[in-house]
Order: sequence, then C-alpha cells, then structure tokens
Amino acid sequence: MSDDADDRPDEPSRNISGGPGGGETVVPGDDGEPETRAEAVVDELGGMYWQKAYGGQDGFECLVRTILSQNTSDKASQPAHDSLMERFGGDEADLAERLADAAQDELAETIAAAGLYNRKSETIIRLANRVVDEYGGEEGFDEFVKADDPDEVRDALLDMKGVGPKTADCVLLFSGGRGGVFPVDTHVHRIARRMGLAPADADHEQVRQAIEAAVPPEKCGFGHTAMIQFGREYCTAREPACLDGPEACPLVEHCDQVGVDELAGDVVDPAEVVADD
Ligand code: SF4
Repeated sequence: MSDDADDRPDEPSRNISGGPGGGETVVPGDDGEPETRAEAVVDELGGMYWQKAYGGQDGFECLVRTILSQNTSDKASQPAHDSLMERFGGDEADLAERLADAAQDELAETIAAAGLYNRKSETIIRLANRVVDEYGGEEGFDEFVKADDPDEVRDALLDMKGVGPKTADCVLLFSGGRGGVFPVDTHVHRIARRMGLAPADADHEQVRQAIEAAVPPEKCGFGHTAMIQFGREYCTAREPACLDGPEACPLVEHCDQVGVDELAGDVVDPAEVVADD
C-alpha cells in the first residue's frame, strides 16, 4: 500500500458517491495483515485511490440519484441529477412531494441526459409517491434509511419496483453510512470474478455475499468505489491492463486472471471459462 496518502487521486467529481466531498477520509483501525485475499485487494485499492467512510446523503435524493445512474455512466447521470435538483429541489421543498406531483413528460425532459428517461421518470414518480405514502415524505424516508435495521431497510427498498440490489446497497452505503455494504455494479462483478474473489459464474448477489463475508465492514465502502475506479483505469471489460504484460497491472499478484489469456490476447467473461470446463 502507498505510504503517502497525498499522492493518491481524489474521487472523480462526477460520482454517485458525491465525489471528493462525498465522504470522510478514514484510516481503517487495523494495521495488521489482511485476513483474506479480498481484504488484501481492498487494502491495495485504498492505497492506490482513497480510504473513505460514506454516509449522510439525503436518503431520497440518493435513491433518485442511483436510479438516474442505472445503465449509464456517472458522467452522464450527474447533469441529469443537477437539472432535476434545480427544477424540483430547493431548501423549502420536499423533493419526494414535488416529484410525486411532477408531470412525467416534464421530468423526462429534465433528466434526458441520463438516458432511458421515460422509464426512469416513471420509476422516480412511482418511488416518490411510495415515499410520500409510506414515510410521509423525504424526511421520514431519510430517518428510516439512516436509523432502522439495515436488513429491514434493504428489504423495504427491494420491495419497491425499479429498485434492485445495487440501488438498495448504494442507498444503504451513501445515505445510511452502513458498514459491511459492498454494492456490486458491473465493474465489481467483472473484477471480483476475474481475480478469483468470487466464483467465476457467480451472479451479482453471490459476488456481494462473497466480498462482504471477506472484507471488514469499515473497508467495504471505499473498497466499492475504489474498485470501480480500478475497473475504469486498469481492469476494463475488453482490455485489462495485464494484456500488456503482468507489470502493467498493480494487482496482478492477487489475481487469478480468470477469462484473460495474456499470451493469446483473448478476454472472455469468467463465466464462459466455467461453462467450457
Ligand atoms: S491482472 Fe489483469 S485481470 Fe487481474 S486485475 Fe489486473 S488487469 Fe484485471
């Protein structure tokens, strides 16, 4: 791990985590040897990028932000989030009430930058109505997310149409500040299986369970965001850095390279390796 935290980059400013201001820098309490390979990987990622504790975002805004980020990049969803907040947010307004009453075509136009705007606007209006009906609005929902039992919060979120495991886990992490939550997006799903941190044919839920069981709770949040950054910079879907040789990847010593054939220059999804056995 890097000894000099000042050399590390900030999180990208356009990030669902809130970017550089979206969490507090922390140094995890244990300085001992990692107990699992997944923990060793997260320690390395923390050294390369950042070690932060998340939490504190408004629960409903975080939910909306995560819906906007589905099937697109943070770079595309951030302007949609900003436009939505400009049009429907504000200090005096209850965001959930405003969005529950929004005209769908107006909301769709506002969030167009995020793509899939018809579906996303429908989902946001439906969720806003549910939050108003069940929690009385933004504030009640925020209290629920931050104070109730995390398993109950996760179940309640998953019960909402349009909310999948990654969205629920992002709300638990970035709003609830819950430890031990490692949301699995497409980068984490790919990298964990390539490295051998989870079975090659594991689905998103199985990857989440494998990583959360192997990484200490206080390291899961930054493990998630830093692994995404690593996926953008090194272990990309089609051209993982190790195709240029083992020295091109700083995590090669922890990696099984499942589905990556350095010599042939071939890359397949790890699940295909299992299917071929
Ligand atoms: S060695 Fe290759 S497959 Fe493994 S993490 Fe690095 S870039 Fe990804």
